[in-house]
Amino acid sequence: MFVCNSCPRKCNIDREIVTGVCGVNAAYKVARAALHHWEEPCISGERGSGTVFFSGCSLKCVFCQNFEISRNAFGKEISEERLIEIFKELENQGAHNINLVNPTHYSLQLSETLEKYKPSVPVVWNTGGYENVGSLKKLDGLVDIYLTDIKYVSESVSKKYSGAENYFSVASEAVLEMQRQVGENVFDEDGIMKRGLIIRHLVLPGNVSQAFKVMDWVKANLPDDTVLSLMSQYTPCSKASEYPTINRKISQREYDLVIDYAEKLGFENAFIQEIESSSEEFIPEFDLSGI
Ligand code: SF4
Repeated sequence: MFVCNSCPRKCNIDREIVTGVCGVNAAYKVARAALHHWEEPCISGERGSGTVFFSGCSLKCVFCQNFEISRNAFGKEISEERLIEIFKELENQGAHNINLVNPTHYSLQLSETLEKYKPSVPVVWNTGGYENVGSLKKLDGLVDIYLTDIKYVSESVSKKYSGAENYFSVASEAVLEMQRQVGENVFDEDGIMKRGLIIRHLVLPGNVSQAFKVMDWVKANLPDDTVLSLMSQYTPCSKASEYPTINRKISQREYDLVIDYAEKLGFENAFIQEIESSSEEFIPEFDLSGI
């Protein structure tokens, strides 16, 4: 029996028998495990980040570029032993880190697995930010880097695009817990992150005001050296065609406004992208590679 309240959806159902909002049962389900070169430079480095993409998701973002695995839950069920083997294989391939992509709905299972096997390279928790503080506390000392989205501040916007009216109230509490756990950012001599927190914000078309509000919150609540990743790579996917405002790429003018605002607030550690990076080419192929 595995009664699940791992994420803010608090389904309170037995995931051994049925699935909750995240759409996957208690067993690990994974769609791809491979070196990935398109994360932030301090994560991907020269050799690549050892990504493990988990199937299912507790958020319901209408524009999700990984829809096939998040909403349709494509993937293969694997044992804990196999997951540990996958971590070791990625380490042997030279991965700078083990990057758990969209792991939230497996947080309890992963806290137990990481207790059994902690990789020799940093563990990255690559999340949409919709996390329970209680679940995060179980990861304290097991996760080295939190790579988290803060997607929106407005309740109406998060409800419309992710089906989660309470997204920001939940995510802002979660990010404070992440920061408490990792403390100051640590990089090696090559600029690869060893420990720390990165706040990602995917700039959505027609929603520059959300980017401003996210940056206002980060500035007011997190240390001055907080790493901010302002992503311009949005490309309409999945159900975005049903939402006219977001059914296009962002414009150069929109992205420039966001960058100008980051400069005005004095962010010194901000990653920015070329607007050309908004292409489906950057979406990994979910073909069970490395599983
Ligand atoms: S992890 Fe899945 S089953 Fe558990 S509370 Fe969240 S959405 Fe529900």
